[in-house]
Amino acid sequence: MSTKMKAAQISTAGGDWELVEREIPEPGPGQVRVKVEACGICHSDALVKEGLWPGLQYPRVPGHEVAGRIDSIGDNITAWTKGQRVGVGWHGGHCFVCEQCRRGDFAMCVNRKVTGIDFDGGYATHLIVPPETLAAIPDDLPAEEAGPFMCAGVTVFNALRNSGARAGEVVAVHGIGGLGHLGVQYARRLGFNTVAINRGDDKEALARQLGAHHYIDATAQDVVAELQKRGGARVILATAPNAQAISALVDGLAPSGKLLVPAAPAEPLTINVFSLIMKRSSVAGWYSGTARDSQDTLEFSSLTGVHPMIEKYPLGRVAEAYEQMHSGKVRFRVVLTMGD
Ligand SMILES: [Zn+2]
Ligand SMILES: [Zn+2]
Repeated sequence: MSTKMKAAQISTAGGDWELVEREIPEPGPGQVRVKVEACGICHSDALVKEGLWPGLQYPRVPGHEVAGRIDSIGDNITAWTKGQRVGVGWHGGHCFVCEQCRRGDFAMCVNRKVTGIDFDGGYATHLIVPPETLAAIPDDLPAEEAGPFMCAGVTVFNALRNSGARAGEVVAVHGIGGLGHLGVQYARRLGFNTVAINRGDDKEALARQLGAHHYIDATAQDVVAELQKRGGARVILATAPNAQAISALVDGLAPSGKLLVPAAPAEPLTINVFSLIMKRSSVAGWYSGTARDSQDTLEFSSLTGVHPMIEKYPLGRVAEAYEQMHSGKVRFRVVLTMGD
């Protein structure tokens, strides 16, 4: 059996992809090694590629939408077994001792780690992780579908299920892309009156197929008026990172409505605060989730038939795959596959 692993790394901020061979690392005490089968490419992998994460150490292997199998276990691991199918997402571990961890809010740990940023991630055949990053993958979920659930999926599912919206209420998903095409599926299956908002009508049929009850074409219709026709949205999940478009959405909220923003636009929002006050509405960010949240996402997706739409590329074509993801032409997630 080969002792070498393959990885796609970035050696310097803004540098090109390098395909490298390394010794397969052994997991230390309290660590698990995962043999990767698939890893989704996320827009935030640009943080590594372009050097936008303060203090990031190079070379670095990005990738936090990992699906594979545990192939080696270090000492002091009790809850996981070799051969088990697991996912690893954005949440790369927590310290268990800070004030947030003591309160059980591990996602807000002040010493939290991010997979593929603080340590090497899943653009590789193997990676080493702490066990609190692991989510068990249901048997019927293929690795290439499980991968995108580990960041894109958990982010929108966890945002929606914690949003306070109740079954039957209007929930709008703004943007039908990598996050949004999953957001529409989750909103529908969580029992919401689901509105999809996108520019143009070319994604209307798809949005309806994914589960949207209603579709608003932002280029042809007045988005705020259309939402207010339905009483306003209890929640708007803004997945298209366009500051101007997101800012305009607050007027489409219902009383006590919430504009949830899980992906940061480059520019600051310009919000009509009077509108917020008069409707007691709010704008909030959303931060991913823990590994157990990711496992909930995998299980819910398996149970209710949520599927990411993906294009697959072998690891050796990482540069092309990454370009495709960032071209905006992809429908809707690119997944790297590792083969054998
Ligand atoms: Zn991500
Ligand atoms: Zn902590």
